[in-house]
Amino acid sequence: MDGSKIPVTAPVLILLGPPGAGKGTQARKLEENHGFVQLSTGDLLRAAVAAGTEAGQRAKAVMEAGDLVSDEIVIAILRDRLGDADCAKGVILDGFPRTTVQAEALDVLLRATGQRINVAISLEVDDDAMVLRISGRFTCGSCGEGYHDTFKPTIKPGVCDMCGGTEMKRRADDNAETVAQRLAAYHAQTAPLIDYYAGQGALSRIPAMGAIEEIATALDSVVAAATA
Ligand code: AMP
Repeated sequence: MDGSKIPVTAPVLILLGPPGAGKGTQARKLEENHGFVQLSTGDLLRAAVAAGTEAGQRAKAVMEAGDLVSDEIVIAILRDRLGDADCAKGVILDGFPRTTVQAEALDVLLRATGQRINVAISLEVDDDAMVLRISGRFTCGSCGEGYHDTFKPTIKPGVCDMCGGTEMKRRADDNAETVAQRLAAYHAQTAPLIDYYAGQGALSRIPAMGAIEEIATALDSVVAAATA
C-alpha cells in the first residue's frame, strides 16, 4: 500500500462501537474541540454512491442490506482520503477499521510513514437501545448537525438549530431490518477489534449510554492524554 503522502506527525484516533453508539456525534465534537479531521468511511462511501463512482456502484446494494463493503474498496477509499493535506492536523477514524484485515492494513499504512495509533476508543453501549437510537436520527442537509426525534430534537421543528437549514436528511439504511443486520455485522466482524487494540495496549473503553456532553467530556480526557 502506498502511504507516502501521509503526514508523519499526525495523531491517529480510532472510535469503535456499534451503529448508533455515537461515533459520528462524538467525532464531530472532537473535530471542533481539538482540530482533528473526522474520517468516516460511511460518509466517504455515501459520497461515492451519490457520485456514482465505480466503488460507489459496487458498495450501494451492500450498504442498503446492512452488510460490510469489501475490505479492498474501503481500504482504497480511506487511503486516498488520508493522503489529503488537511489530515496533517490529525485524524479521528469513525467507522474504520471494521474488520481485522482493515486493522492490519491500517497498521501497515501507518508503519510505513513512522506513525502509530494514539488510541482506539471503544464506546460501550447496550445493543437493545441502539435500534431506537438509530431509527429516530436525522441530520441537517446543510451543515451536517445530527439530531434525534426523541433524544435531540431541533428547537424549532424542521429548522436546524445551528445554521437555520430546513432540509433534513434520514439515511436509507437507518430502518429496523437494516439496523439489525448492521448490529450483527458489528458483533461478527468488528467487535473482535476491541481485543486486537487491547493486545496493542492502545484500547480505552468509555461508557456511552449517558448524555452526549458527559461522553464528550470523558472522551476529551482520553484524547488529551493520548495525544500529549
Ligand atoms: P456508517 O456510516 O459508519 O454507519 O456506515 C454505513 C455503511 O457503510 C455500513 O453499514 C457499511 O455497509 C459501510 N461501511 C462503512 N464503513 C465501513 C468499513 N470500514 N468497512 C466496511 N463497510 C463499511
